[in-house]
Amino acid sequence: MDCCNCHGSDPQRANPAYRRVLWVVLAINAAMFLVEIGAGLAAGSASLQADALDFFGDAANYAISLLVVGMALRYRAMAALAKGATMGLFGLWVTGTVVWHALHGTLPSAVTMGAVGFAALAANAISFGLLSAYRDGDANMRSAWICTRNDVLGNLAVLAAAAGVFGTGTGWPDLVVAAIMASLALQGAWLVIRQSLNELRQSFLAPA
Ligand SMILES: [Zn+2]
Repeated sequence: MDCCNCHGSDPQRANPAYRRVLWVVLAINAAMFLVEIGAGLAAGSASLQADALDFFGDAANYAISLLVVGMALRYRAMAALAKGATMGLFGLWVTGTVVWHALHGTLPSAVTMGAVGFAALAANAISFGLLSAYRDGDANMRSAWICTRNDVLGNLAVLAAAAGVFGTGTGWPDLVVAAIMASLALQGAWLVIRQSLNELRQSFLAPA
């Protein structure tokens, strides 16, 4: 799940140590996005590619938090729009992958899915641990926790799909999990796009 874009009100934003941590989690999330896309292609797993969408969304949030948050509403809205549109395109691509695999009856590598699923779980746990030191205030901590919980649920779904592929000797568990995750990602992308278009409209009506 794409984590909320709640860094706008982040009181720690000016803290240099916190910004260093943001760069680290940005690197972790960007690296895991590439790893899951690459491994998903190599292993023929659609659910790994669907899980990669979340790492993309989170990496984009950290990048926006580091580079764009201090700018005028117009630029923040443009960055969010770019993120939403990219996620929407990836979501459509994963949906296409699901259909292609369903038509061709391919069998993904359960071992690769399991190994990368565990790596994704570790990446999310490390990111949460790094950021939690800087979460002050109940609301801030709560949103970070909900975000990580949803990410971990996605990672566990990939692991369940790996077990299902291993147990049934078919690709269907991979496709079911990927289809659910891709539709959630598409919904999330649509919300981001709608909200950023609203903000863009506002920014042109009342230039800041
Ligand atoms: Zn996330």
